[in-house]
Amino acid sequence: MLLNQINKHRNSLSFRLTVWYALIFTLTSVLALSIFYYHISKVTMENTDDELLEELEEFYALMKEGGVDQVTLEIVMESESEGGGVFYRLITMDGSILKELNMEAYEGVGVSADALAAIGKKEQYFFETISIPGNDYKVRIIYGAISPSMIFNMGISLEDNYEFLGIFRNLILLLMIPLFFVAAFIGWFLARHALKGVEEVTQTAIEISKGSIDKRVEVKRRHYEIDRLANTFNEMLDRIQTLIKGMHEMNDNVAHDLRSPLTRIRGIAEMTLVGNGSMHDYTEMAANTIEECDKLIEIINTMMDITETEAGVNQFKSEPLNIVDLVLSACDLFDPIAKEKEIQLITLLPETLVIDGDKSKMQRLITNLLENAIKYNKEGGTVTISVKQENQLVNIQVEDTGVGIPEEDLPHIFERFYRCDRSRSLAGIGLGLSLAKAIVRAFNGDIRVKSALDRGSSFQVILPA
Ligand code: ADP
Repeated sequence: MLLNQINKHRNSLSFRLTVWYALIFTLTSVLALSIFYYHISKVTMENTDDELLEELEEFYALMKEGGVDQVTLEIVMESESEGGGVFYRLITMDGSILKELNMEAYEGVGVSADALAAIGKKEQYFFETISIPGNDYKVRIIYGAISPSMIFNMGISLEDNYEFLGIFRNLILLLMIPLFFVAAFIGWFLARHALKGVEEVTQTAIEISKGSIDKRVEVKRRHYEIDRLANTFNEMLDRIQTLIKGMHEMNDNVAHDLRSPLTRIRGIAEMTLVGNGSMHDYTEMAANTIEECDKLIEIINTMMDITETEAGVNQFKSEPLNIVDLVLSACDLFDPIAKEKEIQLITLLPETLVIDGDKSKMQRLITNLLENAIKYNKEGGTVTISVKQENQLVNIQVEDTGVGIPEEDLPHIFERFYRCDRSRSLAGIGLGLSLAKAIVRAFNGDIRVKSALDRGSSFQVILPA
């Protein structure tokens, strides 16, 4: 059961964090306890050494005051009171044993040659730790000269030390198991707490995948990282929702704008068939069909142009273009139509102004704005096109004295298929400004509009020089 659960969650981040936390916490605790254990064992050994040294000093003083007899008496007394755990010996400088007491438990403990050598070199004392065959515990031994001809030798079993440290060791080993589980629980709790926000994002994503695109992750302002994730996720959702809405709107518009010419083509064809169908009717039907088809082709081509332009600037050519030449040839192109409406085309241009760009796209941008300025102008009006460079920016302005754009329409005129009510009587498909905006954006520029109803509009394009 537990194994099944572990197997199921083995690859989850919270499981891994829990295991890592438990391992690191346990290992760190074991390391800390081991260091503590090492220090405790060192201190215990130092205590034993201090005890032995104190004895040596005591016997040294006794030797000075009372001589060998006094020392021997004291050894006997102490050996009796200490029991078998401590042995005492008096040794000559060459290693002969003068007196030894309590040696029953320390059989085989000889006189250390190293100790004799050290004391021979006038060292005050010499310590050694040795094992005795058949005894589980080691012995700590001290040698020290108490007179020029006599060495005091004393040994103490480390049994008490080992027992004390043994309890401590067992305690550490016993602690490790609950420590691991406590650490695992804390790790699990922390991981769950930290990943709760991620889980909420996942739940929202699941609900969205089932169709609730309106859902958003709640930003609880508790953890900076999770809040950032939630905010980014929500922003992404907003964008996707706007895109989907835009796509829906565009689909509706495309369907609507394609349906009208198609309905008209069908109506004309039906009328011609139902009627007597003279040669003139058929010719007229063909002409109308061509006109409507042209409109359809224009819609489809412009849509494709917009999509292509929005897809990326990389596809464009970047060649040096003289904007002044482009404006002048656009004016030449529209001059006949302007004359027809008695509209005056005014140009305010520098001698030359060269920027890097794609010629066909720039031509399209300028002609779209110029065409609108003439189309939505009044008879006898003027269109002024000015080009100038300011700092690192090129400013192209197309100003007309036409019908103007109502304030409520201004935020929408760059949307696809948007046409102001008052312009519906005029030819147009509502894609010219969308394409203009896509082109300007593709070249990292901006397009702005200012308009006053019945007085005229001014479109301003700003491009990097
Ligand atoms: P179209 O001109 O084919 O309708 P556009 O995208 O070029 O499409 O323009 C969108 C709408 O913005 C137009 O239908 C018109 O209502 C308005 N508009 C654009 N330019 C002007 C202008 N210079 N003066 C007045 N209205 C304009």
